[in-house]
Amino acid sequence: KPLTHAGSEPEEHALEAALRPRNLDDFVGQSRVRQQLSLVLEAAKIRERSADHVLLSGPPGLGKTTLSMIIAAEMNAPLRISSGPAIQHAGDLAAILSSLTEGEVLFLDEIHRMSRPAEEMLYMAMEDFRVDIVVGKGAGATAIPLDLPPFTLVGATTRAGLLPGPLRDRFGFTGHLEFYAVEELELVLRRSAMMLDLRVTSAAFSEIAGRSRGTPRIANRLLRRVRDWALVHKLEEIDAQSAAAALDMYEVDSRGLDRLDRSVLEALCLKFGGGPVGLSTLAIAVGEETETVETVAEPYLVREGLMGRTPRGRIAMPSAWQHLGIAMPKDAIF
Ligand code: ADP
Repeated sequence: KPLTHAGSEPEEHALEAALRPRNLDDFVGQSRVRQQLSLVLEAAKIRERSADHVLLSGPPGLGKTTLSMIIAAEMNAPLRISSGPAIQHAGDLAAILSSLTEGEVLFLDEIHRMSRPAEEMLYMAMEDFRVDIVVGKGAGATAIPLDLPPFTLVGATTRAGLLPGPLRDRFGFTGHLEFYAVEELELVLRRSAMMLDLRVTSAAFSEIAGRSRGTPRIANRLLRRVRDWALVHKLEEIDAQSAAAALDMYEVDSRGLDRLDRSVLEALCLKFGGGPVGLSTLAIAVGEETETVETVAEPYLVREGLMGRTPRGRIAMPSAWQHLGIAMPKDAIF
């Protein structure tokens, strides 16, 4: 998953997988999406049909992959996982679609990054459960129609706006995942600590939750870092102080800003005098892809009231200067 700051070691992945909730009841927060989805699935079960196609949008780490697994589990259906960047040719998609079994759930992560021809093939597959396989080239090319078994597509994207309208319109249900409240992250952490067999005080849970950028994946990752710290320091119980000390060491600050967030904010304030500056310029200044800054750092900085979006570009809000401990220049725009 290129869009996350995830530690990519296999052990981290195994732990992340182990901590995934397996059904809708264990899935914390997002009550609206959960209720709506539950209704979609119930109705499909009553009609004995595969569920409508589902689009899930929201920043990385909020539970899109987890929900696709839950959908498959609730429908008692197998799950196939692929992603937009992995589907560069229509043929790649044709291979996946033609091997689906009846009722199978196909999860396409980063669906907005699929190639154009694959996208067009997907339109037809979603609507008519049919694809045209093109054989041969040039004047001799023929399209062979192929019927597909009914399946449920679960598409995930960091922003629904990145999808072309015709694709968006073919989803029967769109759920937008929001950042989690601190109390919800505390619940996620409590559950994870139990599974990891850790003793953690309530105050430590809120300390970690407060630094998790509203994101369960980050909450779980920070918990693992705190666990390492406790192990090395031979602590039997993790309290708020040790959690804070551990996370300070990993450069996760008191508002949950990590290195990327801070460098974006610092570039905005120090290199561009608080803006306004275009997003792509800002991304170049921090050596990141525009999409990473736009979908990973920006949503949280905006939500925290540290950065603002204007028609002329991004600006630093007064609290950004305050948070960085820098005096706001008199001519700063905001
Ligand atoms: P996304 O696909 O949106 O990037 P994932 O579904 O991979 O996010 O979730 C990342 C991690 O966060 C998972 O390991 C899962 O354990 C945890 N997680 C996400 N959402 C929830 C939730 N609502 N409740 C509990 N854990 C969650």
